[in-house]
Amino acid sequence: MADIEKIYRESGALLEGHFILSSGKHSKYYLQSAKVLEDPKRAEELAKLLAEEIVKNGIEVDTVCAPALGGVLAGYELARALGVRSIFVERKDGVMQLRRGFELSRGERVLICEDIITTGGSAMEAAAVVESKGAEVVAFAALANRGLCSRSGSGKEAAAECKLPAQKPFFALEDFEFEIFEPQECPLCAEGSEAVKPGSRGN
Ligand code: ZN
Repeated sequence: MADIEKIYRESGALLEGHFILSSGKHSKYYLQSAKVLEDPKRAEELAKLLAEEIVKNGIEVDTVCAPALGGVLAGYELARALGVRSIFVERKDGVMQLRRGFELSRGERVLICEDIITTGGSAMEAAAVVESKGAEVVAFAALANRGLCSRSGSGKEAAAECKLPAQKPFFALEDFEFEIFEPQECPLCAEGSEAVKPGSRGN
């Protein structure tokens, strides 16, 4: 198995420092998922690894559907690796929907793909759109799992925050579980370092 953490680190997708997460909590690490897909060759290789897992587990897929924007590149590469159709859903007026002439048929077997799954909220919104068209969600996939949801084969229990259904398989290449801290209990703050919001310094 490829060293996924090394690939993320080398592509600048796994940042080490002192970060303020969107939750307001602090962490020593931050995943900038888009960076790992910056190199199309690397994106292709990662998607192939994910496709192998899906095929190995006997999951038959007609179409990969990704929630925009984050999942689009990962979904497209995964669809290419699986040799199936690639579509995406997107939010309009805050509601996830199928646009741009994309269609789904009754009974079509759809895999929902993200670049990273944290709680799986966007993936579940995409799944609801797919099911509203009469298609069937057969599995979920992401390149990276933040460790709240239980990826197939990891043997770990899903945390209460995970929104993915336990009865459907979830495939991911790696668990990225980082310790997160309340600002007032953050050991990095205690050492006197200043937390930054990822993106605020061009990262
Ligand atoms: Zn801190």
